[in-house]
Amino acid sequence: MCPDNAQSTTSAYRSSAGQWHFDNSYLGLPGGFYTCLNPVAVREPKLLLFNQSLADQIGLGFLGSGDQALDYFAGNAVPPGTTAFAQAYAGHQFGGFSMLGDGRAVVLGEQITPDGKRVDLQLKGSGPTPYSRRGDGRAALAPMLREYLISEAMHYLGIPTTRSLAVVSTGEPVFRQGTKPGGVLTRVAASHLRVGTFQYAAAKGDVDNLRALLMYAIRRHYPELEGFDNPALALLQKVMDMQATLIVHWMRVGFIHGVMNTDNMTISGETIDYGPCAFMNRYDRETVFSSIDHQGRYAFGNQPGIAQWNLLRLAEALLPLIDDNEDKAIEIVKETVGQYATLYTSRFELMMLNKLGITHKIDESDEQLISDLLDWMTEAEVDYTNTFRELAQAERLLSPVYSSPKFKDWHARWKGRLNRQSEPLSIVRDLMNRTNPAYIPRNHLVEHALAQAEREMDLEPFNELLAVLSNPYEEQAGKAAYTDPGEHDPGYMTFCGT
Ligand code: AMP
Ligand code: MG
Repeated sequence: MCPDNAQSTTSAYRSSAGQWHFDNSYLGLPGGFYTCLNPVAVREPKLLLFNQSLADQIGLGFLGSGDQALDYFAGNAVPPGTTAFAQAYAGHQFGGFSMLGDGRAVVLGEQITPDGKRVDLQLKGSGPTPYSRRGDGRAALAPMLREYLISEAMHYLGIPTTRSLAVVSTGEPVFRQGTKPGGVLTRVAASHLRVGTFQYAAAKGDVDNLRALLMYAIRRHYPELEGFDNPALALLQKVMDMQATLIVHWMRVGFIHGVMNTDNMTISGETIDYGPCAFMNRYDRETVFSSIDHQGRYAFGNQPGIAQWNLLRLAEALLPLIDDNEDKAIEIVKETVGQYATLYTSRFELMMLNKLGITHKIDESDEQLISDLLDWMTEAEVDYTNTFRELAQAERLLSPVYSSPKFKDWHARWKGRLNRQSEPLSIVRDLMNRTNPAYIPRNHLVEHALAQAEREMDLEPFNELLAVLSNPYEEQAGKAAYTDPGEHDPGYMTFCGT
């Protein structure tokens, strides 16, 4: 527990139009899991983005009309009734283990939403903390705008994700390969519990603390597991389940996270920490955009395997709670995590079949149908997103690539397969168009929007792009330009210099 925050009783910040409903259940964990501290104020904050519909949903809609919103989202004031804190965690980063923690973020508190959910409100870029190591605790504006845009796009694509409530420019410079304007993002998350939080507790070697964390995670996310004989094993299975579903979603839309370190994998199953992430255009399993991922560890096609690797790290951390006998515990987790491949593959196949308008798998020939298509797509270097939308409408298969014998052969087999399930064409098309987005954040459009915002403080391209991405499965009149893959792939690079 931390002392009550002196500012937390300042009723001046209570708007007449509404009220915060904050709780701080995380502070009920043993002290080593966090450090209480306030964000560090910034010089000249400007509120660039405020997500009114998300604010309404979580019971903070009243902030939209108040002057205090800017102060809260800049970190210049702390909302009433809360104690802010930075979280401790650890993580395997590109395979190497480190003790980490929120080096440039604080959780303001847990807002209880009108429908009774509990969400963390976190400021990212809010100043140094005891976990900053050699970092400055700050964030550049463009990467915060990027997280806002991509996380919201992911939400509208129907993918579990943290969300973005606001972006403030700080009026202060940050130094990242030159001087950049600074920014603060307000992030909304089911929680910030990570695989790395368990690794932190395990590395500290106090089994009671590890157990406290386990029971907290279960209570917060999976109360249905309370009272299970082996809660640690039950949590491991649940996280496996959630992560398998999540990665299948990423593979469905061509999302590449870029930095799937264990500190960037949540217990809730939400996508978190949008750094060097980007969407694949041309289909290629080996696509890597991150400038620091030299080995391609986090390439598009490696994501399912990396998720399993990360789950093994979670399993390792949980070992002392799974069985008193370590050998037995190892046997149990090996068997459990060993089931991930089957779990993932069956969901992946169903998703891919849905992308083709097929409602369920019949036999092995369906696997062949999927892999032959993906092989052809790799060879023909076609756009992942646009190809599936074009497949849904025969009259759109106009490009010369569709006249190749290999594609024609595959296409005939696919048509034959659709006939076997005897669903009307309208149902097939509908399933395809619900599974295959028409619009994803195209890298060149994202870069243009961010450059305009950063250099000119012109948010128009950003807001227009966000508007299109907020309805990604429906074709929007006059928005064909947003389906253009652009020119600068495959040399496109994203940076972690956030
Ligand atoms: P991320 O790549 O955002 O997942 O960050 C990895 C770790 O580095 C986390 O512990 C961050 O808090 C920390 N970190 C990243 N950037 C900074 C920074 N500018 N100052 C302090 N810590 C940072
Ligand atoms: Mg992180």
